Amino acid sequence: ALLLRDVVKEYGTPPLRILHGVDLAVAPGELLAVVGPSGSGKSTLLALIGTLDRPTFGHIALEGHDLADLSDRQVAALRARRIGFVFQQFFLLPGLTTVENVATGLLYTGESARRRRERAVQALSDLGLGHRLDHHPDQLSGGEKQRVAIARAVVGRPGLLLADEPTGALDTTSGHGVMEVLRSLNTDGTTVLVITHDRDLAASFPRRIGIQDGRIAFDEHVGGRIAVGEDSAVTHIGAASGL
Ligand code: ATP
Ligand code: MG
Repeated sequence: ALLLRDVVKEYGTPPLRILHGVDLAVAPGELLAVVGPSGSGKSTLLALIGTLDRPTFGHIALEGHDLADLSDRQVAALRARRIGFVFQQFFLLPGLTTVENVATGLLYTGESARRRRERAVQALSDLGLGHRLDHHPDQLSGGEKQRVAIARAVVGRPGLLLADEPTGALDTTSGHGVMEVLRSLNTDGTTVLVITHDRDLAASFPRRIGIQDGRIAFDEHVGGRIAVGEDSAVTHIGAASGL
């Protein structure tokens, strides 16, 4: 689904290096947690994977497309169709109802407003929010808001869901509810990558990637730890895809 090859990100002049050559391969359908100290580069990495920004050096391939070969327009189209985002702060539009917020996740499709509404209602019902369709965000609990944001992110069936501290603004109970939603989406086949500070949460993931000072410090799978380096799967998959 996703491949990073020697990805470097620098900001500013003089350039300050934030990511120092990240290699990463994520197969379709994986559920993985990204952990690491504040400032280590997790959100920067997520922005690059999500095509919100481009690397300074190195390559990122999404579903077989090397992003460097695509124009900004093509990248934006790929992002709209294939990637969903969830952030700590929800970013719901306050003037829109729940169902209208979710329907904005389908604007790129060119479908009729009626069809978009139908799909939004279905996505909300699937996430247990069928009784909150016409509420405005300020009438919802934090956990409900985040489930609305998730519905908006996945209503177009994006294939890759990127979540940056999705439970960071929630209490433990609603945080667990949101994680259950992410897990069930993964069970349905969506590749899900979650940045989290919650060690207990991360411990329950089948794969955990640790970022430290802009580098991958560990890459742990249930049932073992894979090396990061010359002999790793990253190198092999990279070679196979021609990157
Ligand atoms: P946190 O856990 O606190 O969210 P993080 O691991 O997500 O931290 P990033 O947000 O990726 O960390 O930031 C990594 C470093 O890059 C920080 O030192 C930050 O100040 C710097 N940085 C991030 N974005 C920019 C930017 N647009 N311009 C300049 N520096 C930036
Ligand atoms: Mg961050």
